[in-house]
Amino acid sequence: MSDCGLVRSLLLSWVDEKLPEDLKVQVAEHLAACGACAGLEKTYRATARLGNWPDEEIPVPGRLVGAVREAVEAAKKPEIEEDPDEKIAVPPKPV
Ligand SMILES: [Zn+2]
Repeated sequence: MSDCGLVRSLLLSWVDEKLPEDLKVQVAEHLAACGACAGLEKTYRATARLGNWPDEEIPVPGRLVGAVREAVEAAKKPEIEEDPDEKIAVPPKPV
């Protein structure tokens, strides 16, 4: 098999390991020979892994929470303090 279009149409089933044995062999042979399809296979596998993301909560580091809060607070403040003597915009000072 050397048809990229056909292999790509089978890639999802390939990644899910739902292909019949004879097609598996052909897809494997094509992926070994075709860098473009092999690259596509990698993205399919990465996407499949995202779909299998565990449901458990992932702990958020406390300093990340603090940083987000600070960013939200900073966004509420006026972005630019203008100094009438200078034309340079001064960003708000961190609290
Ligand atoms: Zn190909």
